Amino acid sequence: MPASPEHGARLAAQVAELVADAELVILRRVRDRLAAGMDAPAWAETKLAELQQLRAALTADLAALDADLAVAVNETIRRAYTTGQAIAVGDLDDAGVRPGLPAAQLQSVRTISADVLAIVRGASPVALRAAADAYQEVVARASSSVLLGAQTRVQAAQSALDDLLGRGITGFRDTAGRNWTLESYVEMATRTGAGRAAISGHLDTLAASGQDLFYPIPGPRACPSCDAWAGKVLSISGGTTSVVADGRRVDVTPRDVATADGHLFGPNCRCSTGIYLPGITVPNVERPDPAGYEAGQEQRRLERGVREWKRREVLALTPEAARSARLKVSDWQARVRDHLDAHTDLRRAPRREQIRSAR
Ligand SMILES: [Zn+2]
Repeated sequence: MPASPEHGARLAAQVAELVADAELVILRRVRDRLAAGMDAPAWAETKLAELQQLRAALTADLAALDADLAVAVNETIRRAYTTGQAIAVGDLDDAGVRPGLPAAQLQSVRTISADVLAIVRGASPVALRAAADAYQEVVARASSSVLLGAQTRVQAAQSALDDLLGRGITGFRDTAGRNWTLESYVEMATRTGAGRAAISGHLDTLAASGQDLFYPIPGPRACPSCDAWAGKVLSISGGTTSVVADGRRVDVTPRDVATADGHLFGPNCRCSTGIYLPGITVPNVERPDPAGYEAGQEQRRLERGVREWKRREVLALTPEAARSARLKVSDWQARVRDHLDAHTDLRRAPRREQIRSAR
């Protein structure tokens, strides 16, 4: 069975949930502060005077989130690494090789956790700025005299709130310049780290058991960083340059060469690794389990729908808006349940358990 970053997606979803919960706390704070004294003539002035207080409260919320994330990310990376190890042990058992224990296990987990946390911690100042900016913008839009001719202050504030924060706290950019929401940004960083950890656990264990060769298996979707390496044989140590399999010479590339410059297992990669045993393994270059992958993606899409309407409920300034958002939440939750009923494997068994490498 191959070790796959796709496994990391499952673990990262739990971290994303933590972020989604914290985001609701932040949105509620912004909404409550805006809603207080909305009928007062000096509402806009009061709200701008309260900005510093709001910022202080949001800073504390984000510090609490950072502390929770430090624990959750470490645990996620450790579990991903251990899973990679367990998969390697299964591979080695099947091959009749006695599994060894990697010496650098703790160090690998620490390094990857630190990398993920460095990215995740950078999100807090961006989130603080985005929430404070949205607050000021809502005040500006809801106190504009032109607007108040047609709309009441509450209506104007509601449409500004939905517009600015209905999709969550945004404004995150990755190194490739793509935009993310707070939740998707943290989820992406954690998923990438967990994928790296699963592959490290797999390859470290193979190496500790005297196995130097593996091959990349293309992910469940096209992967710009790995597709060129599909089916190629790689050396973990870089010490093997070729092997003979079934009487034919097979070229072997050092792993470090393949992974240099974000090539193999680059950003957003969900590909897998498999043990390569000369003369026994026929590298499998088919994308594993695309149907299961699609079902998982659909599940995440439906879950995002639930969270979108939970945010809208929190942002509601009137009982009517809250009620209609609640109905939408139930609606999307029912769709998630239907989807899970139709795909019973989605929660019960990790999808990767269905993946079989060609051996
Ligand atoms: Zn890939």
